[in-house]
Amino acid sequence: MQPHAPRFNFMWIWGVILIGIIIVSFVWDDEGAPIESEWSSVAPMIEQGEVEKINVTSDGQRIEVFLSQDAVKKYKQLNKRYESIPQEGYQLYFIHRDLKILDEDIKSAQQLRNEQLQAEYEQTLSQTADSLQSTIPAPTPYKVDVRYEENESGWGSILLNMLPWLLLIGIWFFFIRGMSRGGGGAGGIMNVGKARAQVYDKDKKAKITFKDVAGHEEAKVEIMEIVDFLKKADKYRKLGAKIPKGALLVGPPGTGKTLLAKAVAGEANVPFLSISGSDFVEMFVGVGASRVRDLFEQAKQKAPCIVFIDEIDAIGRARGKNAGFSGNDERENTLNQLLTEMDGFQTNAGVIVLAATNRVDILDKALMRAGRFDRQIDVGLPDINEREAIFEVHLRNIKLDEQIDRHFLAKQTPGFSGADIANVCNEAALIAARKDKTSVTQEDFLAAIDRIIGGLEKRNKSISAEERRATAIHEAGHATVMWMLPECDPVLKVTIIPRGKSLGATWSVPDEERVHITNTTLEQRLAGMLAGRIAEEVNYGTLGAGALNDLERSTKMTYAMVAYYGMSKKIGPISYYDSTGTRDTFTKPFSEQTAHEIDNEVRRILDEAYTKAREIVEQYNDKINAMADMLLEKETIYTEDIESILGKSAQKLKSEAKKQAEEAVVVAEYVAEQPSAEAQE
Ligand code: ADP
Ligand code: ZN
Repeated sequence: MQPHAPRFNFMWIWGVILIGIIIVSFVWDDEGAPIESEWSSVAPMIEQGEVEKINVTSDGQRIEVFLSQDAVKKYKQLNKRYESIPQEGYQLYFIHRDLKILDEDIKSAQQLRNEQLQAEYEQTLSQTADSLQSTIPAPTPYKVDVRYEENESGWGSILLNMLPWLLLIGIWFFFIRGMSRGGGGAGGIMNVGKARAQVYDKDKKAKITFKDVAGHEEAKVEIMEIVDFLKKADKYRKLGAKIPKGALLVGPPGTGKTLLAKAVAGEANVPFLSISGSDFVEMFVGVGASRVRDLFEQAKQKAPCIVFIDEIDAIGRARGKNAGFSGNDERENTLNQLLTEMDGFQTNAGVIVLAATNRVDILDKALMRAGRFDRQIDVGLPDINEREAIFEVHLRNIKLDEQIDRHFLAKQTPGFSGADIANVCNEAALIAARKDKTSVTQEDFLAAIDRIIGGLEKRNKSISAEERRATAIHEAGHATVMWMLPECDPVLKVTIIPRGKSLGATWSVPDEERVHITNTTLEQRLAGMLAGRIAEEVNYGTLGAGALNDLERSTKMTYAMVAYYGMSKKIGPISYYDSTGTRDTFTKPFSEQTAHEIDNEVRRILDEAYTKAREIVEQYNDKINAMADMLLEKETIYTEDIESILGKSAQKLKSEAKKQAEEAVVVAEYVAEQPSAEAQE
């Protein structure tokens, strides 16, 4: 490892480029450059007869003025502003809105010049003796040579003129960015090897505490311990206990891992150093490792403090995979350095390293060994109550209409992360502002949620009436089949407003209480996914290409059922899933024969789901058409609308039946407790 070599190389390249640019700009300067002018200063020049040629660029944007040699000399001497105009080529350029007017203006200026020439001539004549008059030549009429350029693009030459400047500005930006990124004066190209950690100091005003983090109760308890270690280090030290060095925050993006880590620093009232795993990754050999070293150096100076490494998977990926590619060597060096550093500092140095990842399965196992990131804290997606709490946190700063139903909002946002919810709140405020409202209403929130799920509405995307009806039939097909199968998720709303790439959508709320997913659940969901296409087929007899997404999802799910979840009797309870992610993708862990069987099983399951969905579609086709009519009229319909067409959903009937059964049990138990009453009768 040679941490100094890359710096040297780096400087060289930029040095050469800089020198090149300086040379180029000198050469340019020698020739001088045309200067911008305007018609009002060019007109007098024509009246003086100083303009030889005028060139109008092909796009009509730029009018180039060629002065006579004498005029150039004169102006260079007379006027500082004209000092640098070139002798060759054109000297001035200007912009004129209307070329027709320009033409006439030039002509009239030319006219003036000619009249003046004529007047001078006549005056000379009158002052000379008659006999000599014939020796004085009549003035040659003055004419500006006006040309309209044809093919050559004016922009090309403008760009060419600007090129060195663009380059200079680009390099300048590079320097500035490099400097500001380093923070505190450390940065720029001199400091590639330095860690670019962002430091939040403890006395900063905008401190984040646990109050700003909604939900994550278990995570908070676990992480509170860490706060305690930092706060009362002495207590633990006296007892001889070892303070943990690190914890891994595991969860999908946007669930508040960074927020939690910041809150820990805020609660413990210690500095917080934050850096992203990808910041360690550079093209140059040895940079990553030296940045790790530097990061821990900084941390030790600030101890007690918390170091937060976001996206640790960028460096912490399991080693040894695809060995032989040089890019990986560099990452391995960085990872090794990180492991060494974590082993190296004293347990009680007061530095705690938190790291975040959403792929704990691909991390190198060495990272998780005792004394390193030996604690794992789960930071999952929020459930409905947590979402309500997150809304609460983010609604604090928004001017709200009084009737905002937080619970309803939480219900409408299944699968949203904390970051998504923060985004919804912000978007809702923007939407309200766009409508010049004085407060943000429920309606704005719903619009924001729709927008975040589906992308921008494309109301003016042109769709023919037939296409719209086909989309309505397709979505009504999904909704009807999902409505009829008890294990599908309850349908929340159906819309044919086009968004992003899709023409319509059927949304269901994942049943949050369902933890037990069986093959029946998945089979019924498959039927729901296929139903849109089937409804089109039944009503039109043709197959639309719009169902690609449905097909992709259903096929993937079926393969997972067979090859991962062991749900096919024929293949048996085998899973080819690889949670370590270390298997390369080229060799399959099963034989050709098994591959063939898997394909057959996938086909069988899909066929069965298809048959089931088709039965339902055929049985309820008149209702599907009724729903499509309603969709064409209203564009978006909700649970209640569907209920008015199809009656209670299978999910609702099932949960009602369950409730009744439970009540029956209670009654039965009650009756059973009163044997004497029965005996008395
Ligand atoms: P991660 O690090 O997990 O990708 P962040 O911590 O950067 O996610 O979260 C991004 C933003 O989302 C936060 O700044 C915050 O506004 C919001 N957020 C996420 N989770 C929560 C939560 N539990 N409570 C409040 N806000 C949250
Ligand atoms: Zn579909």
